[in-house]
Amino acid sequence: MMHTLVTGGAGFLGSHLADRLIREGHFVICMDNLITGNMDNIAHLIGHERFKFIKHDVTEYIYVEGRLDNILHFASPASPIDYLQLPIQTLKVGSLGTHKALGLAKAKKSRFLLASTSECYGDPLIHPQPETYFGNVNPIGPRGVYDEAKRFAEAMTMAYHRYHGVDTKIVRIFNTYGPRMRLNDGRVVPAFMSQALKNEDLTIFGDGQQTRSFCFVSDLVDGIFRLLMSDNEHEPVNIGNPHEMTILEFAQEVQKIAGSNLNIRHMPLPQDDPKVRQPDITKASKLLGWAPKVGFDEGFKATYAYFKNKLGL
Ligand code: UDP
Repeated sequence: MMHTLVTGGAGFLGSHLADRLIREGHFVICMDNLITGNMDNIAHLIGHERFKFIKHDVTEYIYVEGRLDNILHFASPASPIDYLQLPIQTLKVGSLGTHKALGLAKAKKSRFLLASTSECYGDPLIHPQPETYFGNVNPIGPRGVYDEAKRFAEAMTMAYHRYHGVDTKIVRIFNTYGPRMRLNDGRVVPAFMSQALKNEDLTIFGDGQQTRSFCFVSDLVDGIFRLLMSDNEHEPVNIGNPHEMTILEFAQEVQKIAGSNLNIRHMPLPQDDPKVRQPDITKASKLLGWAPKVGFDEGFKATYAYFKNKLGL
């Protein structure tokens, strides 16, 4: 039986990964300090014989008893308003937290997988973004705390691989949505869906011509699991759904599913908001035989139903 630690295990992605790992027969340890994670996400796993929760801030020395085969480092504030409100914690978990998690991987001879991000590409000048693109990041802008922490985390991961021989993987995660996202995390999917459910205006930042490509969470988790189980690749791999749309088109989809004529309210575009984003997934496809399966309509409806239920509607 594999023993696997997920940092940020009570978060949106961490908890879905924990579910998948439990299904694959692993013993799963979720570690979280619960600043953006929530016990509700893992409540159904508490009491499982192959599950353990440890409340801990991974920027401090990490102690785990016994053997560890895999460490998935997913702890981090991950939405733009979270990292605006928690800039120092975001920088610390990406830098100090990654260092601690890698130190643990070295000590336990674990495989290590870093949750990195499409934010490494910043406001990209190449479209779609392949892993070979070095990005266009403003280090001192408001998003710099997340982007640079993750870029540092990638550099640190490669250094532990090259210098200490740790078996490391890096996934660059593109926009992902699904059940367990926080209603108030400020990201566009929960924002528009909760606005639609409450019959409020949809808040489009800027003219809505910026694009994003949304991946349903089960597809993302499948790509990450395949990467974790793969051998020989240590450099970053993009995982995301290449289905690209403008934010205005996304708002129109929300109007359609909500079945109401919601108003659109334009608000100022946040600084350094990427104008386009779409993963080039050629590498993931060749290396892992992976492609997203869940269509936008299907994933979207499941997520809408989740938010509806969360709001008690
Ligand atoms: N956005 C928007 N209205 C909102 C929230 C977000 O128009 O209420 C826009 C945001 O400016 C960005 C896109 O939607 O262009 C995606 O934002 P999100 O916060 O989901 O994540 P990002 O991809 O920017 O990290």
